[in-house]
Amino acid sequence: MTCINQYTNPKSTNNMSITILGSRGSMPVSSPETARYGGNTSCYLIETDSEAIIIDAGTGIMRLPDIGDRHLSLLITHTHIDHILGLPILLSALKGKEISIYGVTRDGLTVKQQLERYVSTPLWPVTIDKYGDNIDFHEIAEVATFAIGEVDVTTMPSNHPGGATIYKLTNNVVSVTVATDFEHEIAESDQDPLYSLADFAAGSRMILYDSQYTPEEYKKCRGYGHSTYEKAIELQKITNVNEILLVHHAPNHTDEFLESLQRQIDALELGAHIIFASEGYTFLL
Ligand SMILES: [Zn+2]
Ligand SMILES: [Zn+2]
Repeated sequence: MTCINQYTNPKSTNNMSITILGSRGSMPVSSPETARYGGNTSCYLIETDSEAIIIDAGTGIMRLPDIGDRHLSLLITHTHIDHILGLPILLSALKGKEISIYGVTRDGLTVKQQLERYVSTPLWPVTIDKYGDNIDFHEIAEVATFAIGEVDVTTMPSNHPGGATIYKLTNNVVSVTVATDFEHEIAESDQDPLYSLADFAAGSRMILYDSQYTPEEYKKCRGYGHSTYEKAIELQKITNVNEILLVHHAPNHTDEFLESLQRQIDALELGAHIIFASEGYTFLL
């Protein structure tokens, strides 16, 4: 797999790439101590020849490159604020370009209604409709299969407070699974969400996996809806997917800290790439 550390309008032989526009979790951060991995929140750009599909509209969306005349779509995992903070910036940059926005109804609110909780007064000066009639909303089921042009999309529900959606995107050749805001265990239950995720993600070229906590931190944060790099390693072993990107970095995890965790993972010599995602990097799948 080729990794490009600067956006270059990528072309892969498999006609699919993913660019990390933001992989911080919970809150954006900005300081010299977080410059390497980046401080922007959840936003991933998946591109093929004809499609530009964004997963989540965190502050990373401000890094969206020129996508030319490709069809633009936005898949929302859920509307916790770190996943939608950048939405008005995207909408104001559209200038008439059409966008399809997909998401699940939660708490009895359609995806548009959820987004309007934020994009409306008094939290934001205007409502979504003020950005034009070029925005097309699609309600999807928790478990859904649909197509965006040449890309097949399947979903599964994540184990996360209030719910979240895990997406798998396939272009007939390769697949990528994005499992952010996912917790690997359910309290007082014998269900094992990690195995459900492994079944769902099987055959993917790459999995993005929520690794907000260290195993030590996780003990104090059970039920918060996030996971660990240790579970990412377990997922790699179950699925045999050799490219795992660790995402949703905790706001207080500095570059130095993430680098130290990365060294611990590398020392295990697992024979797979399990790496903390860095903002701005593109992977040709
Ligand atoms: Zn989040
Ligand atoms: Zn969340």
